[in-house]
Amino acid sequence: MSENTSIQALGEIFDQHQTFALMSHMRPDGDAIGSQLGLGLALEAMGKTVFYWNEDGLPDSLAFLPGSEKISLPPAEAPEIDVAIALDTATKVRLGEGNLIAAAKAKLWVNIDHHISNPRYGDVNYVDATSPATGQIVYEILQHLGMPLPDGARDAIYVAVSTDTGSFQYESTTARTYRMAADLMDRGLNVGDINAKTYDSHPYRRIELLRALLNTLELTPDGKVAHWQMLDHLRTDLALKPEDSEGLIDMIRAIRGVQVAVFFEELPGGKVRVSMRSKDRSVNVCDIAAQFGGGGHALAAGIRMPGPISDAKQQVLAAITAAI
Ligand code: AMP
Ligand code: MN
Ligand code: MN
Repeated sequence: MSENTSIQALGEIFDQHQTFALMSHMRPDGDAIGSQLGLGLALEAMGKTVFYWNEDGLPDSLAFLPGSEKISLPPAEAPEIDVAIALDTATKVRLGEGNLIAAAKAKLWVNIDHHISNPRYGDVNYVDATSPATGQIVYEILQHLGMPLPDGARDAIYVAVSTDTGSFQYESTTARTYRMAADLMDRGLNVGDINAKTYDSHPYRRIELLRALLNTLELTPDGKVAHWQMLDHLRTDLALKPEDSEGLIDMIRAIRGVQVAVFFEELPGGKVRVSMRSKDRSVNVCDIAAQFGGGGHALAAGIRMPGPISDAKQQVLAAITAAI
């Protein structure tokens, strides 16, 4: 495992190269896209050439971010680039195969992330697991290096941190996080407008999904584990997009007495995606995810594992019970 580089050294990498490909994990969330735009728009303001790639493209729910139209699928043929930068991506595999092919000509791989499970797969790594969001790391890099902070980067960084902290609620939120938010507001961020676009603008089908999930909700007899599931047919029945389930797990995480909330999702190829949230430091869901090849953070982690979903449920719930 290689050591973290310094922000100064990152600055030298930015200065000494011209063309950058910024990438984030598949099924991107606000922190993934927001970190790409936050760093990328700043690099562009320095005169750099920036590609913004995501294996699954831009979710509709984040299309309000200025500059988000720059996010594309990775091109089939690898262009000449100097530096590949992975943002908010716990393992290189989570970038997706298309990204790895598109970035094949990179001379240098940089890995900027906040997942404690990150194995530091870059040539250069900057992993800060104390940061609540990769977006906050990006902000600190820009500040430390005195890089430009265009309005689009400002908005993107705010959304990155807001979405990864449950609107500045989770215990990962620090005084630095609030100082950052205050600085972004001083720079003209319209907090009411951006929160409305992030949180009060869901498609109807998301609430239909919530209804379907609630019909599958179960609580273990001790009341400590709440879980629900989504079968694959719902995807077509409700014309769902991957981002529609984002954040719904917070509904069952919020049940009094619940220590761990779990969302089981049957994926089109037969694999199962597992999302876990813990409310209790003594139950580390990242460690539980790692038992099945997944990862994330102590209080929020995920797995992609083989199906069928009934087997996945049985195994993961047993591991959670053992951990509690
Ligand atoms: P999610 O439940 O998908 O919101 O993910 C919770 C956290 O775990 C996020 O920080 C993800 O980046 C991380 N995560 C999710 N799935 C995986 C996985 N298969 N491997 C590693 N980390 C993951
Ligand atoms: Mn993420
Ligand atoms: Mn993140």
